[in-house]
Amino acid sequence: MPIDHYPAEGEYCIAEAEIEQPGGTSTNFAVALARLGEPPRFVGVVGDDWRGERLRAGLADAGVLTDTVRVRAGQESDRSIIPISPTGGRTIFWLKGAMLRRGDAVDTGQVFAHRLVYLDLVDLDLWGDLLDTYARHHAAHADAPPLVGQAVYVAGILPPDAAMAFVRRHHVFIGGGWEWQLLTGETDDARMTAAITALVAAGGPLRAALVTRGAAGCTLVTVTGAVDVPAFPVAVQDTTGAGDAFAAGCAYGWVRGWDAPRCARFANAVGGLATRGMGAQASLPTRDEAMRLAFDGYS
Ligand code: ADP
Repeated sequence: MPIDHYPAEGEYCIAEAEIEQPGGTSTNFAVALARLGEPPRFVGVVGDDWRGERLRAGLADAGVLTDTVRVRAGQESDRSIIPISPTGGRTIFWLKGAMLRRGDAVDTGQVFAHRLVYLDLVDLDLWGDLLDTYARHHAAHADAPPLVGQAVYVAGILPPDAAMAFVRRHHVFIGGGWEWQLLTGETDDARMTAAITALVAAGGPLRAALVTRGAAGCTLVTVTGAVDVPAFPVAVQDTTGAGDAFAAGCAYGWVRGWDAPRCARFANAVGGLATRGMGAQASLPTRDEAMRLAFDGYS
């Protein structure tokens, strides 16, 4: 809902329109990857309402493989109401609905046979189970897929020690600045970056950690240290889903074997271009658009 101003508690504002669109962090990621020309398979759950069917159909229309999307009987689909202020900033009111959880059948053999696996689950028990299965049965194989994790459902849920131990089980981990503050338990930016740098340097699978910073771009942390990677100038309308598009850009590069700075630069382009339209999936760029902006500097 585009609004005329963001109200303080107890005030009101005018909602200029109500636009209903598909979204959700992992579906945004999936559609962004499909738009880049790398359609993924989506493993997840929708409710048995009309919104669930629309979500599934929207994924399929975007080219995402949906044979592993299940319908949860008797539950509505997950959704959010998102007021967008005139500056393009957004606030999320989340109505929790059907989502993947421990006990749901997940064919891990099929999941880990892919070239890259993006993990983004609200149920951290199931997420942990998947990491255990990967470590036990897949990690040692030469063709094991890299694991890319996203911070939003970990940050503020696990306490910092447990969160950082969880993060380091992925090859790439992506989150916003405030999410990394919650993950590290550090509110000071320099200390937060130092904590992430120490985590990457400590060994284990983690090769790259990315801190998204909106219009400022991102910070990339690898074994060689932390570098800021500037954003590209874009005409922002709505930043909803920018972080998910960023993650898709990063995964796109990673699966091609690009080095981490190149992945971060490309991710900034994909994330930036995703802010040009209203809604999380409205302005996701094609591969050519993102490549032009990332490496030729124009859109
Ligand atoms: P989230 O959507 O998770 O809050 P951010 O707002 O940090 O994530 O945005 C993710 C990425 O999208 C940023 O790292 C940047 O690459 C790009 N981006 C977001 N907002 C802008 C902007 N105003 N100008 C240019 N790029 C942006």
